[in-house]
Amino acid sequence: MKTNTLQQPRAWVRRYEDNRLAVQSVSLCAVAFLLLAAKALGDPPGSKPPRTWPQAYSVARDAASGILTLRTPYYTVEQDLKQGGAVTRIALTHGKAANLLVHPIESRVRDEGGAALTDLKDSAPSVTHRREGLNEIVTVESVLKHEDGRASAFRVKTTLKYGWGYVKIRKEFLAPAGARVREVCPFSTILAPSLSDYGYREGRSEDEGAPPFSFGSNVWGKLRVERPSDKALQTRYVPRSMIFADAGVEGVEWFAGSDLSQWELQLAGRRGGGRCLLEPSRTPPGLALSVSPLWSPDAAVPLPAACVFDFYVAFPIREGRTQKPWLHTTFNRNRGAWVSADQIRRWAEKGMQTVHCHNDGDYYDDSLFWRDGSYPPYPDMDRYDKVLTDCRRAGIRTATYFSNKELHPSTKQFQEHGTAWGRTNRKGDLQHNFYRPNREYGAQMCLRSGWLEFLEFSIDRVLKNHPLDGVYYDWNVALFCSNPLHEAKRDRAAPARGHWDIDELMELMEWTRRRVGPGGLVIVHNTTTPMFATENFADDVVATEWGYRRWTDRAPDLQELPLEWSLVGALPRGVISYGVLDANAPRRLHRLFAIEAFLGGVAPWPASEETFGLLPLLKPVGDIGSCRFADWRNRAVVLSHARCASAVYSRPGEAYLLLANLDQSAHEVTCVLHPEKLPHPLARPVAATRLVTPAALAGSRNQQEVTSLNASQLVGEGVKIAIPGDGAVLIHVR
Ligand SMILES: [Zn+2]
Repeated sequence: MKTNTLQQPRAWVRRYEDNRLAVQSVSLCAVAFLLLAAKALGDPPGSKPPRTWPQAYSVARDAASGILTLRTPYYTVEQDLKQGGAVTRIALTHGKAANLLVHPIESRVRDEGGAALTDLKDSAPSVTHRREGLNEIVTVESVLKHEDGRASAFRVKTTLKYGWGYVKIRKEFLAPAGARVREVCPFSTILAPSLSDYGYREGRSEDEGAPPFSFGSNVWGKLRVERPSDKALQTRYVPRSMIFADAGVEGVEWFAGSDLSQWELQLAGRRGGGRCLLEPSRTPPGLALSVSPLWSPDAAVPLPAACVFDFYVAFPIREGRTQKPWLHTTFNRNRGAWVSADQIRRWAEKGMQTVHCHNDGDYYDDSLFWRDGSYPPYPDMDRYDKVLTDCRRAGIRTATYFSNKELHPSTKQFQEHGTAWGRTNRKGDLQHNFYRPNREYGAQMCLRSGWLEFLEFSIDRVLKNHPLDGVYYDWNVALFCSNPLHEAKRDRAAPARGHWDIDELMELMEWTRRRVGPGGLVIVHNTTTPMFATENFADDVVATEWGYRRWTDRAPDLQELPLEWSLVGALPRGVISYGVLDANAPRRLHRLFAIEAFLGGVAPWPASEETFGLLPLLKPVGDIGSCRFADWRNRAVVLSHARCASAVYSRPGEAYLLLANLDQSAHEVTCVLHPEKLPHPLARPVAATRLVTPAALAGSRNQQEVTSLNASQLVGEGVKIAIPGDGAVLIHVR
């Protein structure tokens, strides 16, 4: 694994790395023009911008069917102009379900008498469409109607802004004078039943008993239509976000815009007067989801003439190719003992792809660390530059650490603006993040303030002055904030109505991708709060630092791993081993950690010795990017032991089966292959061989030990295969 394995098409990236400085200084439109120009100048066929780089939509309106289709190479969204203009279909080009929705996204009001009024019954809404840069803006005005088609006096105006991997939606409900209603529901749909893993960030604040400065991690659950024991989710507090996944495959998410008062206070006057309901649907089979900022079974309340709700619907941008294991490490100033060129060469030889400088605390008690928001952080920045240059020479891409939420109190900006920009609790206090008594990372800021502009300035300043490929973002998360200065009234004396900074986080992610360019490097860390909408702009994601059960004496069963372990496999993920493994954990657990990572299509982070110990096992697969991958949930391989599991790398005409044993003792398992269930089905496998084991590799790296297996037995009653304890083997089938 000597080559520098990047996720983007190499020739294309290199072209833009050469031009990076030029690209960074021009506008998005100009970059789009450059891309077209580059194509005209003779890009090789198949060379296309990476998944992370926003591209234009193609839009088609079919008068006969009434379907408005908005399409990119990665996904398709449809609106039905004969059903209130509602979004009726979301499908990923490289996903599985033909439609992630089995019922349109509906807007609904229940009137004083309890009758449901819906936009779906309006067969002739008024629709406009225009383009703004790469965004498509669709507006729809529809009448809310009874189930039998009778019109009501309620109307809804919808503005859909199509961004990259998301649609930002504004719903404005218009009510007749004196109207009273039992429910207002800007978002109701039925999701495909395959999206059975979910997480939500709850909508309680300090006033309702949430801790001040709560991080609001996702509450995780499963709702499988076929399992009556899976409970429905019902809460009176509108969640801030909800993510749904067909784990390892695809997903969709909903989240509120930054002004949470729209959802929490506008109609009910207090939090807890709404309802979010997620329950199984039988006809059609799926997960019925509704998010209602106002809901009552029987009491009606007055509705203002107009009320507005902003929210997003987002989905992962998936490529058709498989992600290679992401091999990453970090460096810091280390008392002036900077990483040597020799060390960097060794990293490259092992296959390290990326590194970043991570020095947000005073690790060495010499006071020389990168205080968040400060610049320059070190007296010897030339040595920092040398590490970056040596990495670039060795083919390793580089980033440097930024906290999207922290500003060190020693900075002038904190002293001048800390209280104005800060994330506060109800009392107006700031939260200082300490890692030891009196040792501080920084105080928490809110992006819905001047902090966003300063953060971008601060990032730009570093990228301009140092040979970096991009950024590493810690705290890549929107958080609830009670600083009244960040709200429309901007009155220090008035209590805050409550907001979070998700609109601004989205803005930061889009700015970041433009800033580093299509070939630049964006790494985000979002333990417990993964989001498709932000990850779509990132090259790599770091996950599982905290918040999950620790491994003690055994590796957990794979189904116990958190959803964010691989989420939906849309981009390379690093799972943080020190988040679940103690410093004194036996090395065999590190090895099992790496095995479970590989079975999920992800890699330990930072890349451990055990990671590099396992990698040769996958070497016979060749170019992993040209395979389709199916993780441990695949149905193609069935093993007879509960503590053994498989993952599949599949190509037309061949497949590699990774078989692993999570127990310390060896197991002889019966392995049955269902070749029709491979990502590229095999009609009739003619040969099967067992390749090297990692144990054999440890002694002799280049010796390939190959044993023939009976292919017809493999696809019939099964073949016996011995898998070493804490180990894995690779089977090749063709
Ligand atoms: Zn704020």
